[in-house]
Amino acid sequence: MSFPTPDGVVRAVRGMSFEVERGRTLGIVGESGSGKSVSTQTLMGLTRGAEVSGSARFEGRELIGMPAEELRRLRGAQIAMIFQDPLSSLHPLYTVGWQIVELIRIHEPATTKAQARKWAIEQLALVGIPQPDRRVDDYPHQFSGGMRQRAMIAMALALQPKLIIADEPTTALDATVQAQILDLMARLQREFDTALIMITHDLGVIADMADQVLVMYAGKPIEVAERRELYYRPHHPYTVGLLESVPSTTGAKERLKPVPGQPPSLLRPPSGCAFHPRCPYVMPKCRTDVPPLMGEEHLSACWLPLDVVGLGPEAARRRT
Ligand code: SF4
Ligand code: MG
Repeated sequence: MSFPTPDGVVRAVRGMSFEVERGRTLGIVGESGSGKSVSTQTLMGLTRGAEVSGSARFEGRELIGMPAEELRRLRGAQIAMIFQDPLSSLHPLYTVGWQIVELIRIHEPATTKAQARKWAIEQLALVGIPQPDRRVDDYPHQFSGGMRQRAMIAMALALQPKLIIADEPTTALDATVQAQILDLMARLQREFDTALIMITHDLGVIADMADQVLVMYAGKPIEVAERRELYYRPHHPYTVGLLESVPSTTGAKERLKPVPGQPPSLLRPPSGCAFHPRCPYVMPKCRTDVPPLMGEEHLSACWLPLDVVGLGPEAARRRT
């Protein structure tokens, strides 16, 4: 997909192809500006004027190119989105309960107001909001950050969607609340057998959750693998860098070794492999030839032979 901008066309996301099944979690990881949010927002028809390439299938239906009206109907009912900032989904001027009731009545017109209210209270209880029969009449600002995130999850799940897309759902929360929300999402996903797409900049966030991980760089998927494969045998040097920047779970606060350098401009991505200006393994070929996604189960877009990854740049240079 690409966007027209005053500076020219930003080729934001290219060659995205994925399919998520019920009960499975796909993690999409990348730095900000890598195109990870844009890809799913475009799928959902939330960005206008974007050109889309690639394929995204949901329950056997192609989402890319689907008419806006059809997408709108899927959104909310079968596909729900959870964002970093609940206030972007929860309207500040209406009570949380009113918003859930409205959502239910739009998609289930036969439901009475009283039934929908009861349903909303059950949803709030489901996500662990205490005294849901009272909190249902509160406005979003009366909730703490974590409780707002729970309320948004309650709303997202109200219609029992088959697919949930969560975009940095816990980034704004402190570590303890973040862990609680992730646990809650994992539990609800198991309970309802939903497919989940988790978008994050932090590989640590999806380490316990994702079945499959897709790493994005400069608007393209650069590594796709089952979770264990990706964490234990990362191939792409960028993924290796991201793994080294995951904060340790032993409580160390500082981010160890962020990937050096800046993410590239999507307007003028570097030639060849877009990661080459930051890559410790860079070879002459990397500056000129774009590596395609290669592999069978474990896909990676990198010219480096598999057996030299993990040796470190010096040893790798002696071998290549
Ligand atoms: Fe590094 Fe070359 Fe692989 Fe790109 S293709 S990640 S520059 S080794
Ligand atoms: Mg984003």
